Amino acid sequence: MTRLSRVALAALGIIGVLATIVAVGRFDDDAVRRREAARNEGAAFIGAQVVAEIQESITAAQRFGLVTIAEWPETAEYEEIWASFAPSLPGDSTAAVVFEIATEDVAAFEQAERAITPGFTVERFDSADPGYALVVARSASPEMAIGSDLAGQPGLSERLMMVPATALRVFESDFRTEGTSQNQLQLVRRLVSDGPDGLRRDAWSIVQIDLTPAFTNALESAGPGFGARFAIEGFENDASVGLEEALGDGVVRRDEVVGPVELTIDVWSDDRNVQTVSRVGVVAAGLTITLVVMLLASLASSMLANRRRARVDARDARHDHLTGLPNRRWVNEHLRELNGQPVAVLFCDLDRFKVVNDSAGHAAGDEILVEVSKRMCAALDDHTKIARFGGDEFLLVCSGVDDVESHAKKVAAEIREVVAAPFAIDTSEFRTSLSVGIASTQHMVASDGNELVRAADVALGLCKQRGRNGVVTYDDRLRAAELDRLELERDLQQALDDGDMVVYYQPLVGLDREIVSYEALVRWFRNGDVVSPADFLPVVEEIGRMCDLGEVVLRQAVAQFAAGVAPGSAVTLHVNVDAAQLVVPAFPGMVESVLQEHGLQPERLILELTEGEWGESIEEILPVLDELATLGVRFAIDDFGTGNSGMGRTLAVNGLAEIKLDRSMVNQLFDHRNRTFFSGFTSTVRELGIEVIAEGIETEEDMRCAAATGIDRFQGYLFARPAPASDIDFAAESTGGPFVAEPLLRAS
Ligand code: C2E
Ligand code: MG
Ligand code: MG
Repeated sequence: MTRLSRVALAALGIIGVLATIVAVGRFDDDAVRRREAARNEGAAFIGAQVVAEIQESITAAQRFGLVTIAEWPETAEYEEIWASFAPSLPGDSTAAVVFEIATEDVAAFEQAERAITPGFTVERFDSADPGYALVVARSASPEMAIGSDLAGQPGLSERLMMVPATALRVFESDFRTEGTSQNQLQLVRRLVSDGPDGLRRDAWSIVQIDLTPAFTNALESAGPGFGARFAIEGFENDASVGLEEALGDGVVRRDEVVGPVELTIDVWSDDRNVQTVSRVGVVAAGLTITLVVMLLASLASSMLANRRRARVDARDARHDHLTGLPNRRWVNEHLRELNGQPVAVLFCDLDRFKVVNDSAGHAAGDEILVEVSKRMCAALDDHTKIARFGGDEFLLVCSGVDDVESHAKKVAAEIREVVAAPFAIDTSEFRTSLSVGIASTQHMVASDGNELVRAADVALGLCKQRGRNGVVTYDDRLRAAELDRLELERDLQQALDDGDMVVYYQPLVGLDREIVSYEALVRWFRNGDVVSPADFLPVVEEIGRMCDLGEVVLRQAVAQFAAGVAPGSAVTLHVNVDAAQLVVPAFPGMVESVLQEHGLQPERLILELTEGEWGESIEEILPVLDELATLGVRFAIDDFGTGNSGMGRTLAVNGLAEIKLDRSMVNQLFDHRNRTFFSGFTSTVRELGIEVIAEGIETEEDMRCAAATGIDRFQGYLFARPAPASDIDFAAESTGGPFVAEPLLRAS
């Protein structure tokens, strides 16, 4: 040991001794100050600990935050409705949003939401506006963001593209409420923007923090002998934890700020122990306190550093928390930088990732996402950048090469290969695959990056439709098909808004070809050409407007039929009804008022039901049918024998008057064994008071075979094609002759 070191050591020793003497002296002289110092240290520690706990909750919850959009006509109206719902959100829900939706669209909306993510709960409430309902869609699973499956919501993806730039900023405008349990803090981050089309877009992120464990943990780590009261600005409930009251000189107050949360913490302690220690104890306590203070200081400084880092993370809106990859916002900015250059975007989605998440748990899901991102990064070259777009979606951007689309295809092949290799998580092995949609400036004139992303999303949607695990490139054909489809949707929406549908009628006849009824069949004239229901009804269904269509047809058919039919005639009217109409509780009331308006007896109306399409809605449908049956309206089961219908639930329908055998069934009646079977069927069903009708009778032979089974009601081209009301005399007492002629469809 050098002399210098020894001197230094001695000096240190002396300083130590002096310090101890000074400390003991000070303790003797001013015990109160010492106790205060200890309390201050404790309070600082508790404060830092609570801040770290809350920050962690916010950072973790932000990952699961909901980013969605609602369109609302009036800001004030939205504010009010949201404010009334926010407090009733349950504690375990991380994401919820309220929509106001026209009553008739609610069923379709609910169906679509449930189809997107079965984990959804969708609740319906009355709206102040009579024609509307409030729908609260809520994800029960923490990682399921509403609207994350963009394919299910036409147009939403495009609008979502505009959100990220703002969505990840922290609490620009927030308000807080208490959750259902007393000490749950719910922070609602909301960003509002007005789009160029005048629609309001709101991005929401809801963070829920259980305060009780956060406070308790903080206090426990400060050691025994402390008590504290925590108050949060704007939050009504104060919380007291630990020692019930101060057992000494008083209380230390600290103000802490974490994100949007402003905390006031009052800390007290049990001072009596400090007062009763011996001098030796004081020395020991002094040294211990010094040590503890040093430890605390280092802890506090590391926590402060963590906190700073967390804040930086939260503010650094360009990176994904889990994988460390850039995020949506970064993509937008990167694409903006590349404006004018050849660019290709690859929209990638892990196939059936939800299954892995559900079966192996979210932790395993997270591990796989991290591993996927690592593998993909390793497979990329200098011309390709990668970002996590949300959930199991990744977005890659290729630039800096001439043939950027070929490059993108090569990249797609490479990343699909690395993702396909198995993932070993704990002792289990998982496999997944990748669906990729590519869009490049080579195939479209994109005015901005958003358009490329949207096109890649469309291509991805098609890839999924084709069975996943593949690559689809957005090309001219896809673009044309998309435009056609959009135009068709738009025209159809317009036609439905205007009630611009035409009803044709096809007679149903008896054995002597006398007319017993007419079936109303909808026609749509688009630019002068008739579009077959087979082509446009699926689109009407997809845009969720089957109820509107049904109402237009019913109103027109009842009005025309009631106006034309002879008084006292027994001829009836058949109208087709879709399952979507039958789940609407208001449907029977609408039918009743239409019948009353035109003075048609309910017994004259027979609603044609396609029972095979009811699926699980049957529980909702049967009460609606009962209500209609109580009115006196009767039912026919349509397309019987096509797989769209079966005996199972058919007979459960009250008011069932008829079964209509589909044309494909009728064709089987040429076989004499089938005829024998159907003779039995017809007579059994008739014994129950139900008529059997053969559809699609085109030839005399068809009619002969059907009649041979005992069927005595027929419909088909042999008697007449569907024709407009203007060509039909509903009052004619037809006994055969007039309807043999076949009026052709006319575009007028
Ligand atoms: P559907 O209810 O089974 O109607 C019978 C269909 O068979 C009609 O087709 C009719 O034109 C056609 N048809 C009639 N006789 C013959 C024949 O002898 N041979 C052949 N091959 N076909 C014949 P349309 O009008 O194209 O309607 C197709 C389907 O669209 C209907 O089948 C019905 O399910 C649905 N539909 C039509 N109008 C409406 C409506 O207003 N509302 C609802 N929800 N569905 C409708
Ligand atoms: Mg029908
Ligand atoms: Mg049919």
